[in-house]
Amino acid sequence: MRLFGVLAAMTAFTFSLPALAETTPPVALAIHGGAGTIDPEKMSDEKRQAIAAKLDEALTSGYRLLQNGGSALDAVEAAVRVLEDSPLFNAGVGAVYTWEEGHELDASIMDGATLEAGAVAGVRTVRNPISLARKVMTDSPHVMLAGEGAEAFARSQGVEMVPNSHFDTESRLKSLKEAKEKILAREGVSHQAAVESLESEFKMGTVGAVALDSTGTLAAATSTGGMTAKRWGRVGDSPVIGAGTYADDAVCAISATGHGEYFIRYNVAADICARAKYQGILLAEAADEVILKRLKQAGGTGGVITLDPEGRVAMPFNTEGMYRASIDAQGNKQIAIWQSVIEP
Ligand code: ASP
Repeated sequence: MRLFGVLAAMTAFTFSLPALAETTPPVALAIHGGAGTIDPEKMSDEKRQAIAAKLDEALTSGYRLLQNGGSALDAVEAAVRVLEDSPLFNAGVGAVYTWEEGHELDASIMDGATLEAGAVAGVRTVRNPISLARKVMTDSPHVMLAGEGAEAFARSQGVEMVPNSHFDTESRLKSLKEAKEKILAREGVSHQAAVESLESEFKMGTVGAVALDSTGTLAAATSTGGMTAKRWGRVGDSPVIGAGTYADDAVCAISATGHGEYFIRYNVAADICARAKYQGILLAEAADEVILKRLKQAGGTGGVITLDPEGRVAMPFNTEGMYRASIDAQGNKQIAIWQSVIEP
């Protein structure tokens, strides 16, 4: 009975917002807060409600901008900043810990109108990495900056800097300690194999957003702390354009979450867009093909949020759950964690 209660209460909420549907031309927004093993039985009602409320806040902050004629880039940045500032997600505050007990943050953003993009990897003292990624796109001649160089660029741009401890949370530190114990206990197992077996358990909560604005421009953004216990400057898919983030006004806006190594190797975001473009199939179909078949067969866990030029949303994932929320071009709003959608 408890399970039914939980499912009925939280699997997903859908609402129709007729007033918003009248917005012309249509705008749309989808966000995610990470995919992975999310056991409904293990999540307290309080946490579930806190996550739903924060997703709603992030969605609303981006959507309001779109309704007021704001750009898709402004909307995805605003939504991601709300999630970066929340300790509930693995981005900004609440980022997972590296092996050395610090935080190294990755983020990227892409403009579907121009195919311009910006990304940062391994930054340690930038409060909102997504805003720095946008600065890389608009104020540098490059696409991706990493580590110390990215920090120096951040200082030169006057973005808000914080001590690395700003991102600390008790729960993520506990996860690091558990992860390290498990990894160190597995003698004879390579570090990489150990991390792979732990990844879905300890890295939940990357965040992302995709938006369509009233000029028909699409944008995508992704931000993460990466994977618990990562070492050696490990960088995942989130700041890699084509893997974790992609936008092209002709076909798609995509933000991914999952086991980054797979998303890089399978070039997930760009592959979904390319399939839709060259096979002439719906973006939703292409996303299912890649996430539910190709990636799943390969053992790659995770999901994507996608938005097409018509403002249609698809959010497939091959894990137990994915924190997500959206308002499509018709004004249909959804907030969900697990698979099935329950009408309120
Ligand atoms: N994709 C992220 C990474 O591998 C992690 C995640 O999405 O949970 O860094």
